[in-house]
Order: sequence, then structure tokens, then C-alpha cells
Amino acid sequence: MSVDTVSLTGWGRTAPTTAVRFRPRTYEEAAAVVRGRGPRGALARGLGRAPGDAAQNAGGSVLDMTGLDRVRALDEEAATVRCDAGVTLDRLLRILLSRGLFLPVVPGSGRITVGGAIGSDVHGLDHPGAGSLARHVDGLELLTADGEVRTVTPGTALFDATTGGLGLTGVILSATLRLKRVVTPLVSVSTERATGLDDLLARFTAGRGGPGDPLPYASAWIDLLARGRATGRGVLTRGEHAPPSVLPAHARRTMRAPRTVQPDRHPIGPLLPGGLLGRTAAALLNEVRYRSAPRSRTGELRTTAAFFHPLDALPDANRLYGRAGLVRYRFTVGYGQEEALHRVVRRISARRCPAFRAELQRFGAAGTGLLSFPAPGWTLALDLPAALPGLARFLDGLDDEVAAAGGRVCLAQDSRMRPETAAAMYPGLGAFRELRAELDPTGAFRSDLARRLAL
Ligand SMILES: Cc1cc2nc3c(=O)[nH]c(=O)nc-3n(C[C@H](O)[C@H](O)[C@H](O)COP(=O)(O)OP(=O)(O)OC[C@H]3O[C@@H](n4cnc5c(N)ncnc54)[C@H](O)[C@@H]3O)c2cc1C
Repeated sequence: MSVDTVSLTGWGRTAPTTAVRFRPRTYEEAAAVVRGRGPRGALARGLGRAPGDAAQNAGGSVLDMTGLDRVRALDEEAATVRCDAGVTLDRLLRILLSRGLFLPVVPGSGRITVGGAIGSDVHGLDHPGAGSLARHVDGLELLTADGEVRTVTPGTALFDATTGGLGLTGVILSATLRLKRVVTPLVSVSTERATGLDDLLARFTAGRGGPGDPLPYASAWIDLLARGRATGRGVLTRGEHAPPSVLPAHARRTMRAPRTVQPDRHPIGPLLPGGLLGRTAAALLNEVRYRSAPRSRTGELRTTAAFFHPLDALPDANRLYGRAGLVRYRFTVGYGQEEALHRVVRRISARRCPAFRAELQRFGAAGTGLLSFPAPGWTLALDLPAALPGLARFLDGLDDEVAAAGGRVCLAQDSRMRPETAAAMYPGLGAFRELRAELDPTGAFRSDLARRLAL
């Protein structure tokens, strides 16, 4: 097992802290790290793609789980896969697609591990129908504070604390996921332009979004720099797994994508000198992006990678925001709270924040995870340069707006929230703390995020 002392950050590259990093290659090695932890405790880490400090443990141990990366059993008939926590979603997708299978939930990056995905209880573009990942986990092996491995199944308190539990109940060693079947490796995409936020919400609502929706995957890019009547204008993209009739005969037999698939032309825009996406540049890029999107187009074919993970095509997308890194702000407010969403969008656009990446999606019913983020309503995610003057106070103000509307900010993607705000937004936090106190009385599992928010 390799061991080194490293400075770690999340994807946003803010707030680096130093930890001793262990890279176990067996479950026994992982258990030895947990048993031998020092006073600052231990924490599992996947690929460190959580934007904030969820996968950091200053002064303590960090278990880099990427060395545990075996796919242990793939049952094509039952459509299930059992794999180690360090397997990436990208790799699983490659294995599954050639067999007509697909992940039940696909978040916006494939460069994340199964353990990290369960620890954050990730959601995808079809949350109203599919729910978040925990709904599709049949069971998992969890290394707990006593160094023992427990089998954790749905319907138990430990399962609900671990899915979305941000590594604070233990180290997920492996998991069994239920898969879905697809008939082609392509997505058939519809795109439409909306002239303002009301128009955008109406277009979203016109697609049903629930089970049986013919276009279950939906998200919209919002131009957060547009003002006046154009405030909240955007481009809505919806998709479904394409039927076999769209493929040429040889591709139909092999499940391979034909070469004619178009990539997303505007995953984030070009890199700028010095890596900083300034306000004027962002406004210009937004204008180009909006104008070049089709007013209305249906039936465009994209590969799953181009449709689900356009940002992964740019290895350094997180460096666009300058040396100080980026802060991701992801929140949700319930249906019926559209006025709060309007207010937040207006505040961001009035402040002229250089937000190039801003995605609006819809959530369906919440899962059972005590700290899981999704709840029925709208969710908006935006990335902002961490160096933006007054950013902390500005986002605190947005937190107040979101909290007043009964909404919440995503813990897995947070890097700056205040503890009292988190406590007010997550009613499951009390039960989570109680379970942790019972399971792990000495606080074996710790993270910078947990210390900052007193989780
Ligand atoms: C471009 C981009 C797009 C994204 N899109 C989405 C999206 O659409 N939906 C969404 O929900 N999220 C999204 N995310 C957030 C991100 O995917 C998750 O936060 C995910 O957890 C990162 O996985 P990771 O393997 O890198 O985990 P890390 O960042 O390393 O860890 C994340 C958390 O999981 C815990 N963890 C990691 N491995 C284990 C383990 N084996 N056992 C127990 N706990 C563990 C860590 O302790 C930490 O608390 C996106 C991130 C990026 C960078």
C-alpha cells in the first residue's frame, strides 16, 4: 500500500489541507488504516471531484479508494453489478454499454467513483423518474470505526445514513447496483431556446419529467448574465435513449455508435489567458452560446459521453476560474417556490457574476438518505470564481433566500456554508448525528466539511 503526505483540495481547488494519504489495494489494508488512525481520524476519498472540502481531512488519514477497482460480478440477466468502491462510473459505463446495460443514475461527471457517488447520493438529469443513486443500491459493504466490515442493506438506518453520508459512517468497500437496459449507446436530443425564466420553467413543465416521460433526461443552461426581460433566459435540452432504428445495421449488432454523432459544441467555452473567466468574457460567451443554440430542434443524436459528460472533455475545466479556484453553489427550492428561484436568479444577474456554467434541473421525490440533497422542486447549480470580491457575503445572502423558501444547499458540493444554515436546511441531521454517536463514539471518520458544518 502506498503512503504519502499530500495537500488535497476538491474539484474547486479552494482551501487545500494536508493529510496522510493511504492507497489500499485490499479490504484488509483499508481496515488496517482505519484501525491505525490517529487522533484526527480517517476519511474515504474517491477521485476528489466533490467541488468543496467533503473529501479532505486536515491532519488526519485519507484513504484513496481508487486502488480498489475490481468489477466483481456482472449479472447480465438480473441487470446488476457488484464492484469495488474505487471503480469509476466512466469505466462501468464502457463495460455496461457494450452489453445493452446502463447505470441507473448518471451525474454530470463520469470521472467519479462508485463510493463517492454513493457517499454523495448523486442525482442525474432524470431525477423525477429515477430518483437518486441510493434507490438503486441493493447493498454495500461498509468498513466501520471498529475495523469490521458490515453488509448494509436498504431499509436500515445505517443505509440511510451512509447513502449521502459523505464518508462519515465508514468506508464503502463495495456495492451492488441495479442497472437499466438500453437498446443503443446513443441519446436522441431535443433542444429549445427560452426567452426568460418563466418561459424556461413553462417549457420544463411541458415535459412531464416523471416515470414514462418520453424525454426523461432534462436540464437547462441559464444565461445568468442576461438582464431585463431576458433575465433567466436559457436553452433547455432533453433526451432519451435512442431507438435501434436510428443506427446503421452493423452498429445495431455491436451497440457501437456511428461516427456521425455531434459533440456538444459549447461545454464551457474556450480557455482564456491566465485561466480566468472574467465578467465581460463570460457575458460574451453566454451571448454566443445562447444565439448559436437552435430555437427548436429534435432528434439530434449524441453519444452518452457527449450528452451526459460534456465537461469531462475538458480536463482542466476547473482552472477556468483563476488561481483561487471556483465555488460551486447548488441549491434546490420546492415546486410552488418559483418566486424564490426568480429572486435568486435576479440577484445573481444584477450582481453581474461571471457565471458561465449554470444548470437548472428538476427533482422528483426525495430518497431516504438522511443527508441526501434532492427534494421535489427546482435545482440550480452555478460555478463562480472564488476570488470574486464579496462572494462569501453574497452567497450567505442567497442561502437566506433559499432557506426562507424551505430549500437547501447541497452539502456534497459545498465549500462555504455556515453550520447553522446547514442545520436549518437538513432536518435529518439530528438523526444522523445520533447514529454516528452510537456507531462511532470516538469520531473515527472525520472530514473538513464535517468539522466546518458540525455534521
Ligand atoms: C463536473 C462535475 C459535475 C457534477 N455533476 C453532478 C451531478 O450531476 N449530480 C451530482 O449529484 N453530483 C455531481 N457532481 C458532484 C460529484 O460528482 C460528487 O460529489 C461525487 O461524490 C464525486 O465523486 P468522487 O469519487 O470524486 O468522490 P470524492 O469527491 O473523493 O468524495 C466525495 C464524498 O464521498 C465520500 N466518499 C468517497 N469515496 C467513499 C467511499 N468509498 N466510502 C465512503 N465515502 C466515500 C468522501 O468522503 C466525500 O465525502 C459533479 C461534480 C463535477 C466535478
